[in-house]
Amino acid sequence: MTCRRIWVAGHNGMVGSALVRYLEARGDQVIKADRAVVDLRHQMAVEVWLKQSRPDAIIFAAAKVGGIYANDTYPADFIYDNLAIEVNVIHSAHAAGVDRLVFLGSSCIYPKFAPQPIKEEALLTGPLESTNEWYAIAKIAGIKLCQAYRKQYGRRYISVMPCNLYGPNDNFDLKTSHVMPALIRKFHEGKQAGLSEVVVWGTGTPLREFLHVDDLARGVVFCLDNYDDYEHINCGAGSEISIRGLAELVKRAVGYEGRIVFDASKPDGTPRKLMDSSRIMTLGWLPQIGLEEGVVDAYRWFLKNKVAPVELEGASA
Ligand code: GDP
Repeated sequence: MTCRRIWVAGHNGMVGSALVRYLEARGDQVIKADRAVVDLRHQMAVEVWLKQSRPDAIIFAAAKVGGIYANDTYPADFIYDNLAIEVNVIHSAHAAGVDRLVFLGSSCIYPKFAPQPIKEEALLTGPLESTNEWYAIAKIAGIKLCQAYRKQYGRRYISVMPCNLYGPNDNFDLKTSHVMPALIRKFHEGKQAGLSEVVVWGTGTPLREFLHVDDLARGVVFCLDNYDDYEHINCGAGSEISIRGLAELVKRAVGYEGRIVFDASKPDGTPRKLMDSSRIMTLGWLPQIGLEEGVVDAYRWFLKNKVAPVELEGASA
């Protein structure tokens, strides 16, 4: 299917902006709406906007997102904002007669101790990881909303679950960011300031799966064109790395020469969350950007766009 007019909800974020780049390069017309035009937490505003704009399809990349510290510290914001925008966008899409929607979730929807690699069927088979259960519950609700509107009204709404993402337009604020941008920033600032050590949170043993956001954008549009099922679908890199391994990789890419110190008083979060992405890979999507290459790309973007230094935890040389 080739959609002429696609609303990318959340077009300013890391995922949304990657989708805009990819769709526009393909020749699709992308509709965008800033928060000043439509605040997705306000039902009436969303309903009016969707009835006026009537896109052919919606890619739902809008979400309140954050790393382990932000999720653990602001549970009300994460559950309320995400539930509100999901209810508003998905219901209003139906009310406006938009028949195609791709909802984006997260691998944190799966149980903390799900068998690895995690298949789509593992959803709701066990308790969640506590540091981000508020966000996870909201994302599970988003999947269920898509399924409910498909079941009751025949709407062709689907859900795609990405693993940990990184790339251009990431959030580099150390309090709210995910691990990849945090490490890029910490090693860069550590190099600039000549610090003898850089602090990495947790024990370094958790395993995470990282996908460059440009690969995800291709995967999401691939699903829009080729996937139309009740069940959500995983979209991951298919490989994992420990936080220690990632720290060493980022350290090399940045050219930092000091030591890495682990702060075990900070939470590790879930021990492992490698998804089984064989369903989407069998359909024909494969990641193209390796982790080393991707980290270099993300660091290049950081250097070009985010140069204001911050005060780091860590000793001076
Ligand atoms: P998660 O995948 O939902 O746990 O989200 P994060 O990307 O925030 O964290 C992944 C892992 O990286 C966790 O084990 C964190 O403790 C660890 N980590 C190490 N250093 C940092 C850091 O500076 N920031 C963040 N956000 N995580 C870090």
